[in-house]
Amino acid sequence: MSRSAFVLQEMGLSPLWRPRGEPGIQDSPVNLATPPAEAAAVATVATPPRAAALASTAPAAEPTTVEVNEAPLQAKLPDVLPIQDWDSLHAHVAACQRCELARTRHNVVVGRGNQQARLLIIGEAPGEQEDRQGLPFVGKAGQLLENMLAAAGIHSEQDVYICNVVKCRPPGNRNPAPAEIASCASYLQWQIDSVKPDLIVALGRFAAHTLLNSQAPISTLRKQLHHVQGHPLLVTFHPAYLLRSPGEKAKAWQDWHQVKCQLAG
Ligand code: SF4
Repeated sequence: MSRSAFVLQEMGLSPLWRPRGEPGIQDSPVNLATPPAEAAAVATVATPPRAAALASTAPAAEPTTVEVNEAPLQAKLPDVLPIQDWDSLHAHVAACQRCELARTRHNVVVGRGNQQARLLIIGEAPGEQEDRQGLPFVGKAGQLLENMLAAAGIHSEQDVYICNVVKCRPPGNRNPAPAEIASCASYLQWQIDSVKPDLIVALGRFAAHTLLNSQAPISTLRKQLHHVQGHPLLVTFHPAYLLRSPGEKAKAWQDWHQVKCQLAG
């Protein structure tokens, strides 16, 4: 069994990618040259030339009209932080007392990965393990994210930079408050501007709502190609949600396949 097939089996996705009687899919559980219909839908509205590249690899599927949103990051900041480089960012965040979360954190969690990565993944907030280790996505949810990236052929260290909307853990894993998001937004804006990713992936409803200034259901948002600070953005489920709702993993795999296709464009 190949590594991709093993990972997909571990994710419980093998049946989805082993349909019987479909030429071109039977031979490989991860047929990256044949994106699902949703990738074709994005290709119909994305900005050329990426859209053309996507369309050239898409199967003959009925195109679906999807919406392109150009949304600013929700929070507006009154100040401009004097952040010159990544070391400066880490120093500012480590000393930050701009919101209540500074009082209960053990460590700040700035981000990890390639600071020039083509793919920027943004989650909600650090959890318990992340707060302990000072790194994002290191618990069970992080392992599932690693598995999904590996299955999509995306190297988590080379191809990705991962961070969260807020850099300190909310007590009890509650959602960050609007004032906390606003206080922390300048750090995320700086990270987006500095990484200059070809694609942003928002993990989960909270990150998507914050980045897109939308309250639409994730079932709607994940079917659209959005833009934030001039960068294309796709939405998928948070891996912590997938651990609680394994029946949604097949949809998540469709999203990651779409991510792979978007990056290949
Ligand atoms: S969450 Fe952000 S704004 Fe609040 S203390 Fe941590 S780094 Fe500062």
